[in-house]
Amino acid sequence: MAIAEHADVLKSAHALFVGDADVDAAKGTIKFNRGRFGKVILKKGEGRALQSVGSPMVLALNVISGENATTGYTNAHLANSVFGSLVGGTDIVTLASQVRACSHDQLKFGPLADKMSSNATLVGDIFNGVATVYSTAVSGPGALRNDATSKLSTAHGKRGGADHVMVCLPDASLGFSPYAYINHWLSVYPHGACPKSGIQIHEIGHNLGLGHSGEGSNAYGDRSGFMGFAGEKSNYSPVLAKSVLAGPKNWQLGWFTDA
Ligand SMILES: [Zn+2]
Repeated sequence: MAIAEHADVLKSAHALFVGDADVDAAKGTIKFNRGRFGKVILKKGEGRALQSVGSPMVLALNVISGENATTGYTNAHLANSVFGSLVGGTDIVTLASQVRACSHDQLKFGPLADKMSSNATLVGDIFNGVATVYSTAVSGPGALRNDATSKLSTAHGKRGGADHVMVCLPDASLGFSPYAYINHWLSVYPHGACPKSGIQIHEIGHNLGLGHSGEGSNAYGDRSGFMGFAGEKSNYSPVLAKSVLAGPKNWQLGWFTDA
């Protein structure tokens, strides 16, 4: 195991500058030991908790708080924003469409299969990859998140059976940024962020084990892919689909190992 200071990892004409990381060439891993994001382990092509090829199933939770605050979006709107034509929607720039194009059809996110709820007072039926959560928590993104995932477990089983769960929270005043767990199934979105494809891709990218693009303190400085600046749909065009994730991220996901 080597300790790398300011290591340059060159691939596909992209450079990754690392302040403090362990590089294990035999295993193909890069472990970042500190930084703004805590510990992040990158590993080439294998070893992730979640699949980066194939057809993982996504469930978005449309959370209504205990005081009846809503996201302001219908389930149909959220489904359209995440899956587009896969659920009969008209949105052509979605998590599903952009990642599929970027991966050259190797990673195809789709909606979790429709399923009746066993307790519709907690979580409604799953339809087109979206379900409504009737939370009893009233405030605090952590409390709402925990209540939503707990009620999902009760009504539909653990994670609802999905590979990725997107928790869409109500109330613009919560004041937090979208976030996701690395090598995990959960991503969490404040009011307004959930339908934005750039943010969806960024957060689900964390689920797949990706860290941020950029250098030093400017962790979001790389705007060539969505692991840097997570653009909003308004400044993003489907023409750019193939650069959704910048070169090193494609390599890390094992999509283009010969690139
Ligand atoms: Zn991030």
